[in-house]
Amino acid sequence: MDRRNFCKTTLAASIAASYPLLAACERNGTVATQASTSIRGISLDGAQIELEKAAIKELGDAMSGPLMLSGHPHYDDARKVWNGMHDKRPALIARCLNSQDVSHAVTFARERDLLVAVRGGGHSWPGKSVCDDGLMIDLSPMSTVTANPESQLANAQGGALLNALDTAALKHGLITTAGVVSHTGVGGFTLGGGMGRLNRSYGLAIDNLCSAEMITADGQVRLVSDEQDADLFWGIRGGGGNFGVVTNFEFQLHPFNRNVLSGSIVWPISQARDVLEFYGGWYQDLTDQLYVGPAMATMPDGTGIMIMEVVYNGDPATGEKALEPLRKIGKPMTDGVQIQDYMVMQTQEDAGFAHGVRSYIKNGMVKEITQGLVDTMIDAYINDPRLMMFTHTLGGAVNRVGELDTAFPHRNASTMLGVGGGWASPTDDESAIALSREWYYQLEPFMGGYYSNIDFESAAAARNYGPAYPRLARIKGEFDPGNLFRLNSNIEPA
Ligand SMILES: Cc1cc2nc3c(=O)[nH]c(=O)nc-3n(C[C@H](O)[C@H](O)[C@H](O)COP(=O)(O)OP(=O)(O)OC[C@H]3O[C@@H](n4cnc5c(N)ncnc54)[C@H](O)[C@@H]3O)c2cc1C
Repeated sequence: MDRRNFCKTTLAASIAASYPLLAACERNGTVATQASTSIRGISLDGAQIELEKAAIKELGDAMSGPLMLSGHPHYDDARKVWNGMHDKRPALIARCLNSQDVSHAVTFARERDLLVAVRGGGHSWPGKSVCDDGLMIDLSPMSTVTANPESQLANAQGGALLNALDTAALKHGLITTAGVVSHTGVGGFTLGGGMGRLNRSYGLAIDNLCSAEMITADGQVRLVSDEQDADLFWGIRGGGGNFGVVTNFEFQLHPFNRNVLSGSIVWPISQARDVLEFYGGWYQDLTDQLYVGPAMATMPDGTGIMIMEVVYNGDPATGEKALEPLRKIGKPMTDGVQIQDYMVMQTQEDAGFAHGVRSYIKNGMVKEITQGLVDTMIDAYINDPRLMMFTHTLGGAVNRVGELDTAFPHRNASTMLGVGGGWASPTDDESAIALSREWYYQLEPFMGGYYSNIDFESAAAARNYGPAYPRLARIKGEFDPGNLFRLNSNIEPA
């Protein structure tokens, strides 16, 4: 059954299932009895509040999609997010089928000062798309992407995944920049910037965003673009989910041959210095068509590896020539760079970053790969299969956009550098997080600015947005003065 039909057929059942639960709702050890007329919620500033059952019923009646409470047969599935470290129980989950559903949910929360989490693809590393005792606005049923070969535009609903965006565009020989794990959400990915293997050719996801439909804190459905609500449109191109719930993204697409020269070259970690020193001198003059991203990791058997991920977006023969100098460095263990379908590359990390993994990550923006940084990368490396250092290489089209043309100001950075990892057991949390931090803090002195989409620290917005922050704060003050949308890299309303 497709997702839409699933939603329609479960709608009646879910409402029917939810209302008895209003009367016998067991959460956090508290049982609301038949006699109670409300359930417990949490306000924006963390105070306990009561949510009247009659009002909840009214919201459920107004929505096309199901409104779920604890005990609903799909509640536990719906509250799950990608990072297994976050196990939270919202008071209500509004599973939205359309913009009106979102508007009803936003209005319900605003009128009650109720904490709101917005779930796109659910891949927020710090788990900001779910919350305890608040309202989770779940966009996952709104996952359709359509691509138009004539206009070369794609429309992605707010809960769509990157796989759907890539797939819809490729069907017509077109593409836009998407990230490296295909089950990531278009929503959070795009609103924070959106880096991917084609960003040197086509810019970040936000650089390809033509317009968006969104619901602001006042419940209004707005179409925003350079022509309409231009300030708001500027803000959502880098400012994250601070300004409202985006229900549709319209992207520019580009003609693209899906058979691309791509893959990874892997060296033993003992050759990392040679590779990185070469890379530090080489990457600055690369053509926009060539994407090369270094990473350092450890295989499950303890073998340390230096990886270079490569995509050449152009004539493969020219790409082979461009790669020659890199291939002469050291003695790779494997060289998997070949002509292959773009989706092989776009899905190759999916299993390694599977849903439910416990994960912690920190990042920063690097202007230059200096000798000092290379030395530190070598010294800081930790041989542990749970951990890795990875990069997104920028430059090219990303860096030709002005620093404040969008709300993503890191336009002079060459690289986004991340350190962190994934593991299965809660017993690893403490040690793996401590080691990730140890590795990361050695590299941090080489960073200037941070990518809000990966930030794990809650009070980091000013440093994430840098010079874009004052304008973002002003726009936030205009469109979300009560800071309803606060579970993100949060901007204080000016
Ligand atoms: C495995 C993995 C791989 C990644 N790879 C990349 C990559 O290649 N490039 C890159 O740039 N980033 C990457 N990221 C980071 C990613 O961009 C962010 O985690 C992003 O927030 C995920 O978006 P989401 O919709 O899946 O997340 P969610 O958890 O649903 O949301 C994240 C944040 O965005 C807000 N949000 C989501 N959708 C909407 C919407 N429609 N309207 C309003 N607000 C919304 C949420 O409220 C929340 O604050 C990756 C993350 C993971 C976990």
